Amino acid sequence: MLHPPHQSLQVAAVPSQRAPAREQAGPWHSEAVCRRDEAGLFFAPSKEPTAARLAREEAAKRVCARCPVMVECREHALLQPEPYGVWGGLTAAERRVVLARRRRREMELKASSPGSRIAAAG
Ligand code: SF4
Repeated sequence: MLHPPHQSLQVAAVPSQRAPAREQAGPWHSEAVCRRDEAGLFFAPSKEPTAARLAREEAAKRVCARCPVMVECREHALLQPEPYGVWGGLTAAERRVVLARRRRREMELKASSPGSRIAAAG
C-alpha cells in the first residue's frame, strides 16, 4: 500500500486485499505524512468498538488534513478503489458515497448528452 501506516496494519486488518494496491502507488507516496508517524490510525483493528473507531478515524483525518498529497491519495483510493481504511481524509464509507455520486453524475451527463438523445430517438 501507499503509506506505511496502512502497510503496517494491512497484515492485521486486511491482509490480501491491500497488497496489490501498493504496487500501483504513485510518486506522491514519498510525500505522505503518514509515512513518518501516526501508524495505527488508518485501519481498524479487529473488533474495534464504534466509539473507538470514530475517534481513530477523526485522528487519521487530522493527519490527512496536513498532508501535502491528500488530493492525490484520495483520488488513488477512489480509483482503485481501496475498500478499507482512511485515505485522503475519507473513510471507506465516505469514499463509497463519493463514488456513488460520481457514477450518478456520469449517468446524468451521458443521458443528457446530444449523442444519447439521438441514439434513444433512433
Ligand atoms: S492523505 Fe492521509 S492517508 Fe493519504 S498519504 Fe496523506 S496522511 Fe496518508
